[in-house]
Amino acid sequence: MTGKKIPVSYQLLKKEILEGNISIEEVVSQYLDIAEASSHLNVYIEIYKEEALARARELDQKLKDNPASAGRLLGLVVSVKDVLCYKSHPVTAGSKILQGFNSAFNATAINRLIEEDAIIIGRVNCDEFAMGSTNENSYYGPTMNGDNPDLIPGGSSGASAVSVQIGSCMVSLGSDTGGSVRQPASFCGVTGFKPSYGRISRYGLIAYASSFDQIGILSRSYDDIALVLECIAGPDEYDSTATMIPSDLYSEYDTGKAYRIAYIKEAIDHPSLSEINRRLFSGFKERLTDAGHKVDAVSFSLLDYLVPVYYILTTAEASSNLSRYDGVRYGYRSDKPADIHTLYTQSRGEGFGMEVKRRIMLGAFVLSAGYYDAYYKKAQSVRNLIKKEIEQILDRYDFIMMPCTTGKAWKLGEMMKDPVEMYLSDVFTVLANLTGQPAISIPLKVDNDTPDHYGVQILGKSMQEKTLFSFINNSIKLA
Ligand code: GLN
Repeated sequence: MTGKKIPVSYQLLKKEILEGNISIEEVVSQYLDIAEASSHLNVYIEIYKEEALARARELDQKLKDNPASAGRLLGLVVSVKDVLCYKSHPVTAGSKILQGFNSAFNATAINRLIEEDAIIIGRVNCDEFAMGSTNENSYYGPTMNGDNPDLIPGGSSGASAVSVQIGSCMVSLGSDTGGSVRQPASFCGVTGFKPSYGRISRYGLIAYASSFDQIGILSRSYDDIALVLECIAGPDEYDSTATMIPSDLYSEYDTGKAYRIAYIKEAIDHPSLSEINRRLFSGFKERLTDAGHKVDAVSFSLLDYLVPVYYILTTAEASSNLSRYDGVRYGYRSDKPADIHTLYTQSRGEGFGMEVKRRIMLGAFVLSAGYYDAYYKKAQSVRNLIKKEIEQILDRYDFIMMPCTTGKAWKLGEMMKDPVEMYLSDVFTVLANLTGQPAISIPLKVDNDTPDHYGVQILGKSMQEKTLFSFINNSIKLA
């Protein structure tokens, strides 16, 4: 190994690889060293060391033999959240109930990465079935923030964010049902992106709440995210909710445009928003105005309904999606149950963790005959109102801007006893999943030397990722 420094963005790295300044094997070895040296952070459930090295050697050879055949993601090293199916590898959604389960196929997103010559370095930790905001709900134990191991990294794709933060891979794939890519990205100082609903096929993504779930992308550079999106987005015959609109060239940005940006007044005035978040947000807003963009405060009356509606609908969908884990078909089965009924109840009782059980019960309750109209149906109606109000704002503006989180990453264990408090902290991220718009969280520079990270979140119009990335490209230096 030469020890040559790996550039922070894939564009720069690819240039080095194509010019022969660094081999893909060297790149993979360096990432593996970092991944292995950070086992105390509990990021990787499994590192695919030999496989990744063998694939790197194969790609180095391919480049030598026929440079023209190199894929668009040649030598891009990716970590994958433990909710994405990777053929012949275990996948457990951070749960005991999927112990021993191996995937027989690739998720469409994984397939498309591999087809473009990316390398999967390992499977990373997450909250069980992607339910959580801290990565503490995993069967494998919590993941720690790479900048300060006393702090949570965020969740549920917390380990995806840390894998990028510590430099053990270039990109990570996570999943985002209510902020699980954007919030940990924000707490770890990296960029996290959730596409429009349907932009990336969900085939091979273990379901939490199907009308909210999207695969998301984390990286240190928005350029990498735009490029990876180009390669994995688009129609898929295996997912009927995937868009029919072909993928676009998201990394070829429009330049020199002034945009119209709305920010939600109620979000900035929200009592849970920390002073430093408010200050950083308003600094960014001013820099955008100075750069010639039009930035206006708008009112959004339904802000306080977002979290309740999100948790009613996602738990309802989860209780149905998770009914398939019965001890018979997949993974874990309880030892010596007396009869078939006990087999179901014992396997589920032993296999699911606390938070997942809480959500299954909540979901079953809101769907039950006596309460369906009062909770589930009502929440569906409010979701429609939320969508309408947001679409009306986006008829007048290109983007909606909000803080990503209410404060900074908190201490491990601090919020575990109060699930409702934890749910409320998702107030700014669940919106984009309720409405289906694309949203990206980019780090905001802090003005002193603390290890804390903060992010700002930009929501775009549905299926207009290209405009969103063009704006980020245009304004990132102001963040
Ligand atoms: N924190 C949210 C939840 O617990 C979001 C999770 C997610 O996006 N997967 O549901």
